[in-house]
Amino acid sequence: MNGNFTLASAHQSVRDRIRLACEAAGRSPTEVALLAVSKTRTADEVAALAACGQHAMGENYLQEALDKQALLGNTPLEWHFIGPIQSNKTRKIAEHFQWVHSVENLRIARRLSDQRPDPLGPLNICLQVNVSGEDSKSGCAPDEAIGLAREMAALPRLRLRGLMAIPEPTEDVNLQRRRFGMLRELHAQIRQELARMDETEGSKARATFDTLSMGMSDDLEAAIAEGSTMVRVGTALFGPRPRKAASETP
Ligand SMILES: *Cc1c(COP(=O)(O)O)cnc(C)c1O
Repeated sequence: MNGNFTLASAHQSVRDRIRLACEAAGRSPTEVALLAVSKTRTADEVAALAACGQHAMGENYLQEALDKQALLGNTPLEWHFIGPIQSNKTRKIAEHFQWVHSVENLRIARRLSDQRPDPLGPLNICLQVNVSGEDSKSGCAPDEAIGLAREMAALPRLRLRGLMAIPEPTEDVNLQRRRFGMLRELHAQIRQELARMDETEGSKARATFDTLSMGMSDDLEAAIAEGSTMVRVGTALFGPRPRKAASETP
């Protein structure tokens, strides 16, 4: 079987799913971006997907991502960091990515802002929120999100673009909708808060707070129904992942 053909058809079917979900929700497909999650995939696979017209790639493991970026230096891609962030990794993340979706506390946000090289312009970030309570460890608590968003929006070399969540996997579509709906409501509240902040402080934080990063291979339809503007899809594009990234060191 021709691998690139398989990848091209998988890419097309994910785009079809996005389009159909948008139609069902009365939304335009141009409102939902596709982030291809390329963790554990080789540089050749990423290059093949780029050749299908896919521009945005999401990576979870820093060293693996840097290795791929070095191999793909001539391919113009937009790199998104979506994995857990240890503080000793923030400098490289700030230097080598256009987006970071997994910012969950102020300490990491400040380091990313401090370490972002000026010439690259602001680093786009999303605040990750835990919408699944006890069933998830990552993300800030929902009741902390507004306060954190205010502080992150004020950091000089970051641009707070929105919210991200990874709800616990479930086949219960109503539960998927509730989790994503919670993120959508928080997003609306934060937009209002940023509008107030812009008025009193002369900032411009609200206009660029435009992203809801939610939905993966198994739940992108529910996420789009609840307002997702960026779905992060790995398995449905590349097939099942090997258990662990070979190149990742602890
Ligand atoms: C791996 C991963 C994805 C993609 O998950 P699939 O189920 O393979 O589509 C999306 N978001 C994050 C944060 C991930 O770690």
